[in-house]
Amino acid sequence: MAAKHITVLATGGTIAGRGARGLGRAYVPGQIGIAEMAAEVRALGIDAELSSVDIAAIGSQDIGWTEWDRLYGYIKAALNDPGVDGIIVTHGTDSAEETALLLDLTLPADTPLVLVGAMRPADAVGSDGMRNFANAVRTASDPAAGGRGVMVVMGDQVFAASDVRKAATSHIDAFRGFPRGPIANVTPASLDWFGPPPRTGEGARFDWPQTLPQVDVLMAYAGMSPCTVDALLQCGATGLVLAGMGAGNAPGPVLDALADAVRGGVPVVRASRVDQGYVDRNLEVDDDARGFVAARSYGPAKARILLQLLIASGITDPLAMQVHFDRR
Ligand code: GLU
Repeated sequence: MAAKHITVLATGGTIAGRGARGLGRAYVPGQIGIAEMAAEVRALGIDAELSSVDIAAIGSQDIGWTEWDRLYGYIKAALNDPGVDGIIVTHGTDSAEETALLLDLTLPADTPLVLVGAMRPADAVGSDGMRNFANAVRTASDPAAGGRGVMVVMGDQVFAASDVRKAATSHIDAFRGFPRGPIANVTPASLDWFGPPPRTGEGARFDWPQTLPQVDVLMAYAGMSPCTVDALLQCGATGLVLAGMGAGNAPGPVLDALADAVRGGVPVVRASRVDQGYVDRNLEVDDDARGFVAARSYGPAKARILLQLLIASGITDPLAMQVHFDRR
């Protein structure tokens, strides 16, 4: 079989980090050019042709609309190139789930697109970057990788963008999926999908927006004051995500302030600050009466991305928005 052609778009993060004195401390993300990494993978003998572009060299905590818009442009160009079989985006792990979901919701599901990062810089003891990158090449060049939407490869596992989240600050297996766990196990030499592609032929759910509206996340805590809601509205929020306690709860006065925001035309999505689990409608909070949307399986970071796309698409009716959160 002919070698697959993979376009690698680099944004930075620990996978390109260096300067660690071997202990993994005091390193700078985004130091290694993607051509250097591609050369190392070629040397491993993986049967794929890699072409690479450095889009940015930042920690992913600094990623935002400017980088996303640029990245999307390069991805569209690659998708329009019949010679490209798959795409890899190297990325910091902190906001990987946000970039992955944004792309998943705005791209067709058929071309394999894999986000990959690392928990340890390249020159730290036991660095995971090159292994994760080799696994990403293995995944993106697999004939059965299409029809699964955007994927994240970390720690010898493949996750779907809609499921994945960073669940630990420092382990090399820091990523988890909910409600599904990994959709495949991967090593540089093997790839085991747990089922057939579920989204073959599926088009993009949303058009790429002109820009993304300001949506802010507020975390609930015991004794929280409703002033936080007012402060965010004054700051220009056009949508709010509650990272609520438990199944999306907050003190009564905060819920009252959020319901006022809805009445004022600012959509509100209830998610949870808990690591995983569903936030369903009308459990302890009367979403019907207050006009809220329940985030279902999405955590606050993902709920924010979907809410941004909904507002950008002019979909702000709570029940119409709920359909998108229910669908995942
Ligand atoms: N905070 C940086 C980032 O997300 C480095 C951490 C990492 O890549 O794991 O890009």
